[in-house]
Amino acid sequence: MFYGRDSQVEASRRPYAVQVLAMAKIFPAPFQELLVTVLIEILPSVSAFIDRTHASFIDGQQRHPATATARDILNPATGEVLSRTLQADSEQVETIVASSRRAFNSGVWRDLTPAEREYALLRFADKVQAHSEELAQLETLNQGKSIHLARAVEVGASLNYMRYMAGWATKIEGQTLDVSIQVPPGSRFNAYTRREAAGVIAGIVPWNFPMMITLWKVMPALACGNSIIIKPADETPLTALRLAELAIEAGIPAGIFNVLVGKGSEAGAALVAHPQVNKVSFTGSTSVGKQVGVAALQNMTRFTLELGGKNPMLVLADADIEKAVAGAIGGGLINQGQVCAAASRLYVHASRHKEFLEALTAQVAALKVGAGMDPYAQINALVSRKQQDSVLRYLDIARQEGAQFTTGGGKPDLPGYFVQPTVLSNLQQSMTNMQEEIFGPVLSVMPFDDLDQALEMVNDSRYGLTASIWSNDLGRVMDLIPRIEAGTVWVNNHVPVDPNMPFGGYKQSGIGREFGRAAIEGFTETKSVCIAY
Ligand code: NAD
Repeated sequence: MFYGRDSQVEASRRPYAVQVLAMAKIFPAPFQELLVTVLIEILPSVSAFIDRTHASFIDGQQRHPATATARDILNPATGEVLSRTLQADSEQVETIVASSRRAFNSGVWRDLTPAEREYALLRFADKVQAHSEELAQLETLNQGKSIHLARAVEVGASLNYMRYMAGWATKIEGQTLDVSIQVPPGSRFNAYTRREAAGVIAGIVPWNFPMMITLWKVMPALACGNSIIIKPADETPLTALRLAELAIEAGIPAGIFNVLVGKGSEAGAALVAHPQVNKVSFTGSTSVGKQVGVAALQNMTRFTLELGGKNPMLVLADADIEKAVAGAIGGGLINQGQVCAAASRLYVHASRHKEFLEALTAQVAALKVGAGMDPYAQINALVSRKQQDSVLRYLDIARQEGAQFTTGGGKPDLPGYFVQPTVLSNLQQSMTNMQEEIFGPVLSVMPFDDLDQALEMVNDSRYGLTASIWSNDLGRVMDLIPRIEAGTVWVNNHVPVDPNMPFGGYKQSGIGREFGRAAIEGFTETKSVCIAY
């Protein structure tokens, strides 16, 4: 099936095809035919998957809840129904936790040798690789993002992460400890620590990178021998469900990787409050993260929180402006700015502010807005009408507070959940758009005169997830790095993450770290062993 030219496109998806064709007309005549023929071919496996009515994945298969509340899954590029889910009821939350507990306690996974777990996880990565295009298309259709981003990041970066984390299964280690215990006098002791699987993990995932963030949790949790229940965001459950099927095909035992499909405030809340859950790994907004932390504490359930950000970019007087502008667009507008680490507050030395703002405005204004499945579109739909309304509301507030819009500022004439990429200037540090996470394609640019003033503004935020410094003055950069309150500081780049770099936030951007050794520590308990001999 080809979106855009196949007469057999289902009625429910036809408006999308029409819309893509309309966009094709933007291009000059000789290119129209070419564009239409290169539009992405939807794989038959993707069509078959979205045609199903989905439900929670428990013990190796999807199971309908006893009392079924249906939820439509929408295509953000059109607002049309893409697929359907049956939301878990409270009984199904009990069933899924019992399944994960049973699978964990049985030892079918945690008692494998580390090498056996590593090989199984590598086979899972091979399966994901074999289904790369299918997963990328599912994500683009469900989440709205560019197919290029889905291929490169949701799938490509995830594959790197999967293989990196699979390798940790054979590298988990404790310490040997010299102890000074003298009871009874003359006795001798040997002490050491073990890192043991924490048990049943609840992984709560947001909608901005549904597949990648699912794997950020599944891979280290399983490398350590745990079982995991993924609760995808209400809007974007499809890739997590497909991943669970692929895990079974790769030989991961049933019940070790379950998926709970349901409403965050009901099924999600019941899951994190469940006494049989040993650890909650939450990624999402700061407001929900706080509720999750409080709920988890009631049972002393361990938790890590990866939350929001309001990330500054600090452009010094000597910076390469061309690179900084490219960095602001790449690091700020990737995934339509729906990235916790996205650059959003851009502080530029006053001597370069005009040059930076003009170049940024010109390049942002030239970005092509369109569906994620349109290979030429650079800014795609936001995930939902709710998110579109929220971003537009922030733009209204900015207008009322006196911001100047150098480009963008509204929604384009397209049927889906689009917002024009926007650049704001004439700002004060106290304005709403400088303080609150907008999570949309909006860049705010402010000049600064001296570095102390800039640093004060950089740190003037309740968030502290990431920041970037743009300069080739090594001495200045090295002075600044320790003074910035953020979990990650990039220099002359913004937004790349690596499986080996711990990721997480200062202040209200979270508690704990994921990635690298930190992830392994987060999904294990430490046991001290003391042997008298
Ligand atoms: P959200 O907080 O609304 O939802 C996140 C998840 O929590 C969803 O699965 C949702 O269904 C679930 N949920 C909602 N209420 C719940 C409750 N009471 N108990 C348990 N689960 C509940 O976030 P979102 O809108 O999906 O995602 C956007 C947010 O995520 C942004 O703030 C962004 O900065 C943040 N985020 C952070 C990181 C990071 O690593 N720090 C990465 C991606 C996104």
